Amino acid sequence: MTAPGTLFIVSAPSGAGKSSLIAALLARHANAAMEVSISHTTRAPRPGEENGKHYHFVSVEEFKSLIDKQAFFEYAEVFGNFYGTSKLNIQQRLAAGVDVFLDIDWQGAQQVREQLPESKSIFILPPSTEILLQRLSNRGQDSDEVIAKRMTKARAEMSHYHEYDFLIVNDEFEKALDDLEALVRSHSLAQAGQAIRHKDMLTQLLAE
Ligand code: GDP
Ligand code: ADP
Ligand code: 5GP
Repeated sequence: MTAPGTLFIVSAPSGAGKSSLIAALLARHANAAMEVSISHTTRAPRPGEENGKHYHFVSVEEFKSLIDKQAFFEYAEVFGNFYGTSKLNIQQRLAAGVDVFLDIDWQGAQQVREQLPESKSIFILPPSTEILLQRLSNRGQDSDEVIAKRMTKARAEMSHYHEYDFLIVNDEFEKALDDLEALVRSHSLAQAGQAIRHKDMLTQLLAE
């Protein structure tokens, strides 16, 4: 029997750094059983974004047909585009012992918590509104109009922080990454999973 992985839900206002933090964590642990779920979206790819790597980019028609087929674990409309996590794989990967990260908004987080109460949710905060705007501008991938829309939505997204199990402030990147790593590592030590991983050792330790 394999100890199941943990589902980590990660949310933040756009530009707070959740994608960079998840990517850096996975890069630090290249050989570990950790994966980020690749969402479907109807938004247009940004320069450098690859289909199947950053997102599965689909048309609104394709997205709606996937909704009809009940292909989504959760989906939501964010900034006028649809985003969704496909059901395929998630349960399978968790059962195989893989920790799965979902980079999703608060609406999706609520849907996932209802279906999988044992999931853990993490909210990433920027240190200030000014810095959030600076990061969105520096990322250089969204138009001024899109950035303005994301800034307007940031407060609404952040107002949901109290629904999350953990809060990480992404001020200094390496420190926020250490915090995320500590959190994930501590969950890998949960008794139920450890008992399965160390079953033989425990049997020997407890033998008469
Ligand atoms: P970024 O967060 O600024 O990089 O912008 P994105 O366009 O990548 O994501 C826009 C919003 O959609 C964010 O709030 C994401 O967390 C959310 N999002 C991305 N994928 C999903 C998904 O599969 N499901 C849901 N519910 N939200 C998603
Ligand atoms: P999100 O996925 O939450 O929208 P990103 O990971 O795309 O955010 O980060 C937004 C921008 O801010 C990127 O250009 C990223 O390199 C930068 N960034 C992320 N964290 C920090 C940090 N702690 N200090 C400075 N810049 C950061
Ligand atoms: P971006 O367009 O900048 O890549 O993402 C914008 C927002 O959409 C982010 O806050 C991101 O977390 C959210 N998002 C991305 N994928 C999903 C998803 O599959 N489901 C939900 N609910 N939100 C998502």
